[in-house]
Amino acid sequence: MATLHGLDDPEVQPLMQKMNADTWDPRIDRNMLRPPERYIYVFTVSPREFVVDRPPLWIKFRLRGCPKGERYALVTRIPDPLMQKVHNTDTGKFRGEAHDGLRCTIDLLNPNNPTNDPDWNAAPEMAAYFSTSRGSDLFAQGLFVSLNPTPSEEEIRRAEQRRERYYRALMAQADELEATDRPGLQAMLKGEEGTDLRMALDYFGEQREYHKPMVPTIDCPNCGEPIKKNMAFHKSTALGGMLCILDWQKAVMAGVKNKSDVPEELRWWGEEAPVKRAVARPRPS
Ligand SMILES: [Zn+2]
Repeated sequence: MATLHGLDDPEVQPLMQKMNADTWDPRIDRNMLRPPERYIYVFTVSPREFVVDRPPLWIKFRLRGCPKGERYALVTRIPDPLMQKVHNTDTGKFRGEAHDGLRCTIDLLNPNNPTNDPDWNAAPEMAAYFSTSRGSDLFAQGLFVSLNPTPSEEEIRRAEQRRERYYRALMAQADELEATDRPGLQAMLKGEEGTDLRMALDYFGEQREYHKPMVPTIDCPNCGEPIKKNMAFHKSTALGGMLCILDWQKAVMAGVKNKSDVPEELRWWGEEAPVKRAVARPRPS
C-alpha cells in the first residue's frame, strides 16, 4: 500500500530541509496555504492607470483605468488575509506572514491613511492634496474598495464624489496660480498634476487658455483653408467671406442655400416623378 508522506512526516522533513536549506524552510505553516476567507475588491471610476511600486507588498503593481464608456471597472481583488513572504535575517530563510487584507488594500490606495475608512482625514484634505505626499491618495482619484464583486450604487457614487472633490480642488489651485503665479502654473502643468488637471477640465467640460479641446483639421478641397473634418460648408476667407460649399444637399437642408443655387450637375433630385395611373383590374370572368 502506497503511503502519502506529509510535509511533517519524520522521514520527509529532514530530507526536504537538507535539499532546500538555503532557499526555503520546508516546515510550512499550513495557514499559509489556506484559501483566503474573503476578497477585498478594488474598483475605479477614473480612466487613469496607476502603478504602485512599494516593495515588498506591491512591486510595480499596475492598477488599470476605467475603459471609455464604462462607469466603473474592477481593478483587482486582494485576498484576506494577505500572505507576505518575509525574509528572516537570522536564519536566512523565508517565512510567511498574514496581513489584514482590508488594511493592506487601504494602504495600497492611500499610504497616508492609517484607518480602514477611505474618507478618513476629510477635513484637512486640502493639506493632504498639496503636501509632500500629494498624489499618493488614489481614493481621491476615484479608486474605491468593496467587499462585493459588484459594488453598490452608494459605493460608486461616493467614489465619483471623491474624484470630483479632488478635481475641483486642482482646478481652484490652477486658477489661483494662473492669476498670481504663471511660472508656478507652468510647473504644475508639466508635472503629474498637470495630467489630472487636464482630466479635471475635460471631466467638467471646462476650458482654459492653456487647455482647449484640440480638433483635427483638414485642408478644404475647394479653397484650401484649414477646416474641421466633415464640414458641409464654411465661411471662406480665401473666397472673400463667401460660403464655400462641400455638401450642397446639407447646405440646402441647413437653409444656407436654395435649391436654385445648386449647380445642375450636383442636383440630387431627379425630375418630378410622373403620377402613377390607376391600373384597371382584370374583371373576374
Ligand atoms: Zn473651402
